Amino acid sequence: MFVDKAVIRVKAGSGGNGCVSFHRAKYVPAGGPDGGDGGRGGDVVLVTDHNMSTLMDFRYKTKYTAKNGADGGPRNCTGRDGAPLIIKVPDGTIVRDKETNAIIKDMTGVDRFVLARGGAGGWGNKRFATPTRQAPNFAKSGLTGEEREVVLELKLLADVGLIGFPNVGKSTLLSVVSKANPKIADYHFTTLHPNLGVVFIEEGVSFVMADIPGIIEGASEGAGLGHEFLRHIDRCRLLIHVVDAAGSEGRDPVEDFETINKELAEYSPELASRPQLVAANKVDLLYDDEPMQRLRDHIKGLGLEFFEISAATNRGVRELINAVATKLQHLPPIVVYEPEYVPVDEKATPEDITIAFEDGAWVVEGPWMERLVSNVNFSDTESLGFFDKMLRQNGVYDKLEERGVQDGDTVSIYGLEFEYHR
Ligand code: GDP
Ligand code: MG
Repeated sequence: MFVDKAVIRVKAGSGGNGCVSFHRAKYVPAGGPDGGDGGRGGDVVLVTDHNMSTLMDFRYKTKYTAKNGADGGPRNCTGRDGAPLIIKVPDGTIVRDKETNAIIKDMTGVDRFVLARGGAGGWGNKRFATPTRQAPNFAKSGLTGEEREVVLELKLLADVGLIGFPNVGKSTLLSVVSKANPKIADYHFTTLHPNLGVVFIEEGVSFVMADIPGIIEGASEGAGLGHEFLRHIDRCRLLIHVVDAAGSEGRDPVEDFETINKELAEYSPELASRPQLVAANKVDLLYDDEPMQRLRDHIKGLGLEFFEISAATNRGVRELINAVATKLQHLPPIVVYEPEYVPVDEKATPEDITIAFEDGAWVVEGPWMERLVSNVNFSDTESLGFFDKMLRQNGVYDKLEERGVQDGDTVSIYGLEFEYHR
């Protein structure tokens, strides 16, 4: 089954909590703090798997959770890091934010990408020991792992896309120039999903060709089957427009050509302006040269390259394929989409913080705060100075004062507790 869209929810592991513990040994009355740090939560990582060609697996499994980091322990024991969770996706998968549809990452040509970051482990109490505070009775809890809902979308990676009415011989052409084995039959919509084939020219020269279900009139308004597959040729560097030159189904070849291009333009003007060359197929069925002549004049009048072929008898196919290979050398590479997504974190500002008085402590929270805390190394004096400066500069102390904080009160920020002194 060919599945090219899926929605999944991923959650990275949370960091383990830091430990509060004091060294205990015989004959040592008051040991120092020895609580270890919590381990980091596992990331959720996307890995490109070149053997995959569909997103089918994601129909059955839609929730992915990485392991949490283990809590720190006494005797300076650091908790184990949570194992990352690897999710394999086919090459060409585009990851979008479910809510905004913005592109988070195009996996094309990318080996791995961290989709959700595990939370940092909390510091154990030994980290908080200072010359004046020898028995810190607190530790930091681990931070929550990132969680997000994303849309996976597969956009095939093909250099060349075949377009045209149903039954004009697109699948037949792909089958004679590559090892692909698409279904071929004399009725419309035989091709129900895209097929890819590698066209080998000579040692070191090859390209990928995609056959998508036929486009018909009204497809861009959702009437046909082809519409939803059009995005699979979005990345194609070149289109081969296959026309039934013999008019074997009673239609006029020139009208066919124009109809398909109109459909294409309605779906995407950009795609309609993609380099195109025309393959007039089924020349073996021609008994009257007139329609072919008109088609040839029409195409040449548009300045496009024109090839007369018979996919059934192989006539003209080699010339077409060689011309495609030559043209590809001068065309830009397959498009890789730029990320558009702005992580929520980066939008977080100090204005978002909330202050609440709970269990005798002033609790300060908010995405900006959480991010700041996770970036500060509390065992480092300079880093602590930076933290203090950030709180001051961004008005956190002002806000605390507004709420009525007093000298000596406890302030609690994501597991970090300290005494307030203006
Ligand atoms: P698609 O819908 O465009 O993929 O068309 P198919 O490749 O499935 O072909 C539709 C029908 O046309 C099949 O019966 C093919 O055998 C036939 N066909 C394809 N190419 C040629 C050709 O060059 N000459 C003749 N006589 N028949 C062809
Ligand atoms: Mg077909």
